[in-house]
Amino acid sequence: MERKRRTVNVENRDRARCTPMLGANLARMDTSRSDVLILGGGVIGLACALYLRKAGASVRVLEQGTPGCGSSHGNCGTITPSHAAPLAKPGMMGMALRSMLRADAPLYINPRFDGPRLRWLLGFARHGNWRDFASAATARAAILQRSRRLLRDLMRDDGLDCEFAEQGLLYVYRTAKLQAADEHDHVAVLDRLGIEVERLRGEQLQAMEPALKPGVVGGLLHPGDAQLRPDRYVAELARRVVELGGVIETQAKVERFTTGQGRIAQVHSSRGSFQGDRVLLALGAWSPLLGRKLDLRLPMQPGKGYSLSYSRPARVPRHALVLREAAVCVTTWKSGYRLGSTMEFSGYAEGLNRTRLDALRRGAAESLHEPEGPELLEEWWGWRPMSVDEVPIIGPSTRWSNLSLATAHGMLGVSMSAATGELVAAQLAGTEPAIEPLPYAPARFGV
Ligand SMILES: Cc1cc2nc3c(=O)[nH]c(=O)nc-3n(C[C@H](O)[C@H](O)[C@H](O)COP(=O)(O)OP(=O)(O)OC[C@H]3O[C@@H](n4cnc5c(N)ncnc54)[C@H](O)[C@@H]3O)c2cc1C
Repeated sequence: MERKRRTVNVENRDRARCTPMLGANLARMDTSRSDVLILGGGVIGLACALYLRKAGASVRVLEQGTPGCGSSHGNCGTITPSHAAPLAKPGMMGMALRSMLRADAPLYINPRFDGPRLRWLLGFARHGNWRDFASAATARAAILQRSRRLLRDLMRDDGLDCEFAEQGLLYVYRTAKLQAADEHDHVAVLDRLGIEVERLRGEQLQAMEPALKPGVVGGLLHPGDAQLRPDRYVAELARRVVELGGVIETQAKVERFTTGQGRIAQVHSSRGSFQGDRVLLALGAWSPLLGRKLDLRLPMQPGKGYSLSYSRPARVPRHALVLREAAVCVTTWKSGYRLGSTMEFSGYAEGLNRTRLDALRRGAAESLHEPEGPELLEEWWGWRPMSVDEVPIIGPSTRWSNLSLATAHGMLGVSMSAATGELVAAQLAGTEPAIEPLPYAPARFGV
């Protein structure tokens, strides 16, 4: 029987026009100066705002749309220390180049010539050696594990209501070949990093997840992983920031800067000019675009991904799943159900791509009895802020004395959000950070 399906096509541009919210009116009455002026109201800017506010700093966030209207909106919402290993490793570039020929491949590089993209890809390829792989994995694991612990505290202590759940994440295999490869590489890396992973036989996995079609050969359970509903998480962060006295300026597009004596004196936006004793650049994939106006060459590219959100199917998976062969992530919440993923390097090309959305659907249909929910609620794309070494860029700028950065969280911004906020707050307060900050320092790129 044909099921009724309603499609609400929400794209980033439309979301950026949403109604101004939270503190916007309050902000009008304030002076234009704050201790920390935060550029970008995604999950990273907002988590930094919250930790800074808790440390006693006055904060003002400038966001061109509404809080969380960028990559933080329609992502898969998984919290994944299990994803500590970076993508770049020996052999990866060969696979990526072959995938240029397939528009529906999970990893896709647009072959059209683009200077900055090509430079970034060459830099990315240079990191595909075992030494850089090991150091990126160690740095990513440290911030992921710290963040995982902090997120639990944040949910409890700040009462963030965003469907946070701690039942872990499952990798699902339908081919023995990929399972064996992951058992060799992925499990070995997690063992070295002290991140728990459990091997499951096909029948164990099938018993654990009746939503899966027969034919799974095995799985890997990452019991330390968690999940939340990302749009609610950013809304709750924003609520809490404002509750604690922070200010969020919505529809405030940062356009240019006044600088002098090695400092950023003023930030000019579509809603006026603002000053901060410190300025924090947390603009996600837009960071290099604004960075250029400050003479910062940030080695970053947008890594485009897609998601499809539905009302809940009748037979849903109990865990968040990664269907490994198709590279599709499946997340289920009480309030809904989402298929997401794919990584596309097409520069700043906006908009949905049917081929890639269909690939998500097909990938889910290979493994799930009910791959889609009764109502399609949203088709979405977002830009992951990808740094060339797949390690986020967090810390003071070497170029401007009052600028810090918190960007380039790639595929893991939600997962790393709390520890990023904590680290930035410690650095700006001059207190001892909970994690070693050096691996994330902007200084490694001379910015
Ligand atoms: C399909 C997909 C699935 C994903 N799944 C996961 C997952 O399961 N777990 C996970 O941890 N991560 C996941 N991610 C990655 C995660 O979404 C990002 O790492 C994270 O959202 C980055 O947050 P951010 O705050 O840096 O960037 P954004 O959320 O993009 O925030 C940047 C903000 O800056 C604003 N901005 C831009 N320019 C200006 C300007 N000139 N003036 C003012 N404001 C401006 C934008 O409007 C935006 O709100 C996924 C991403 C995608 C695309």
